[in-house]
Amino acid sequence: MHPSVDPSETPADLGLDWNHGFAALGPAFYTELRPTPLPSPHWVGTSPDVARQIGLDPDWLARDEALQVFTGNALPAGSQPLASVYSGHQFGVWAGQLGDGRAILLGETANGHEIQLKGAGRTPYSRMGDGRAVLRSSIREFLCSEAMQGLGIPTTRALCITGSPAPVRREEIETAAVVTRVAPSFVRFGHFEHFAATGQEAQLKALADHVIDRYYPACRDSRDLGGNAYAALLQAVSERTAGLMAQWQAAGFCHGVMNTDNMSILGLTIDYGPFQFLDAFVPGHICNHSDTQGRYAYNRQPNVAYWNLFCLAQALLPLIGDEELAKAALESYKTVFPQAFMARMRAKLGLTTEREQDAELIDDILLLLARNGVDYPIFWRRLSHAVRAGAFEPVRDLFADREAFDAWLLSYSELSALDSKALSTDLMLKTNPKFVLRNHLGEQAIRAAKLGDFGEIETLQRLLERPFDEHPGYDAYAAFPPDWASSIEISCSS
Ligand code: AMP
Ligand code: MG
Repeated sequence: MHPSVDPSETPADLGLDWNHGFAALGPAFYTELRPTPLPSPHWVGTSPDVARQIGLDPDWLARDEALQVFTGNALPAGSQPLASVYSGHQFGVWAGQLGDGRAILLGETANGHEIQLKGAGRTPYSRMGDGRAVLRSSIREFLCSEAMQGLGIPTTRALCITGSPAPVRREEIETAAVVTRVAPSFVRFGHFEHFAATGQEAQLKALADHVIDRYYPACRDSRDLGGNAYAALLQAVSERTAGLMAQWQAAGFCHGVMNTDNMSILGLTIDYGPFQFLDAFVPGHICNHSDTQGRYAYNRQPNVAYWNLFCLAQALLPLIGDEELAKAALESYKTVFPQAFMARMRAKLGLTTEREQDAELIDDILLLLARNGVDYPIFWRRLSHAVRAGAFEPVRDLFADREAFDAWLLSYSELSALDSKALSTDLMLKTNPKFVLRNHLGEQAIRAAKLGDFGEIETLQRLLERPFDEHPGYDAYAAFPPDWASSIEISCSS
C-alpha cells in the first residue's frame, strides 16, 4: 500500500515542455501527490503515434528514464502531479465524491496534451481501492483507445503500458500495470457535479470558464440561448455527446459503464473498462457482467447519455440561472443524435445522397440483423465487398431467413439500378472496418502477455490503427469469434 521505493528525487528530462492549465484552477480541484513506485518495470506496449503527438523525443523508448516515468517511479522535469476530485451518478444513483482513485495527472504539455498515469497508486480519492490497475484491463484500455482512434471515434489516447511483477488482488491475484493516457482534458461531467453538489459555486464557475476558454471558446460569442455562455456550453457538450453516441452505435461499440464520472466534457470515449464491440448484433447486449439490470446495454446508450446530460444540466444550473434555458440547451440532442446516427449508417450502406426512404432501409436491416443474430462487423464488411463485386451470396449466407434478406436487398439494390452513383463502395470500405477489437482478440493478447509475449498486442495495434486496410495474411483476425468468446466475462473489476 505504501511505497517500497522512493520515487527518484532527480527529475527525468524527457524533453517535454509543460503548461498546467488544470493545475492553475487551484487546490479545491485536486490533491498534489507523487505516484507510488512499482518494482522492476518493463514495457508492455507503446504508441509511437501518440509519442509524436505530445512531442516526446523519438528515442524515448530506448531510455530507462521514460520507463521509470511512465511507471510512476520518477517524475518528468517540470511536471506537477495531482489527483483531481469529482463526484458522480453510478448506475443511476448519486454516489457522492469519487475522484481520481488511481489516476495521477502528470500535467499538461505546452502543446495542450494532458498526460495521466492510470494505476499509479493510491490517492485521497481511492476509497477502498488499491490505486492499481491490472495488466489485463490495461491492455484492453490501451488497445481500445488506439482502435477507436483508428475508427475515427473521439477518444482519449494511450501512449504506453508498462508492467510490473507486483501482485494485485482482484478475483484472483494478477500483476500491476500502468497505462499512460493522453487527452486535451480529462474533465468529466462528474467534475461539475462535484462542485454543484458541494455548493462551491465559485469553483463551479471557474471550472466552466476554464472549459469554455480552453475547449469551447465559441460559447462566449454565441447569440443562441439568450447569449448565456453556460447554456451554450451545455448545448455544445450535448451535441458532441450526441455525435459520440451516433459513432458508438454505428460501430457496434458498447461502453459498459456510462456513469456520469465516465463521461468526458469533450465528448471523448473515456475510461475503458468492461467495453465490448458487438459480435452478433444483439441490441439488448450487456457487456458489463456487473450490470445486472442492463442499464448500460448497447441499445440504451443514447438514452443513458441523454440522462447523463440532464445531470450535467442540473450541475450547471446555478451558472445558467434559468431552468428553461438549461432544458432548451439539451433539446438539440434529440435532433443531433438521430441525424448523426443516420449519417453514419448511410455511410455504412454506401449511400451518397439522402433520401426519405433511407430510414426504413436502415431500420429494416438492423431488425434483420437482430432477428438473425448476424455478426455485425462481418455483415458490413461483406456487404461492402458484395456491392463492389455485384455478388451477394456471401452476405446472404449470414442470414437464416434468406427470403427476408432478399426482400431487403431488392430495395437496397434498386438504388444503384436507378442511379449508378447512388452507392459508393469506396465509402463503404472506409466506413466498415475489416478489423475490430473483439473481446476474444483482446483476450488472446492478454493471455500471451501474461506469459511474457507482447507480440500479439503489437499485431493487434498495427491492424487496429488501420482497420479499413486489408492487411493480407491477417484474415484470422477478421474472422467470426470462436465459441469460447461468448463465455468471456468482463466486469467493473479492473
Ligand atoms: P470506474 O467506474 O472504473 O471508472 O471507477 C469509479 C471510481 O472508482 C473512480 O473514482 C475510480 O478512480 C475509482 N477506482 C476504480 N478502481 C480503483 C482502484 N483499483 N483503486 C482506487 N480507486 C479505484
Ligand atoms: Mg472512471
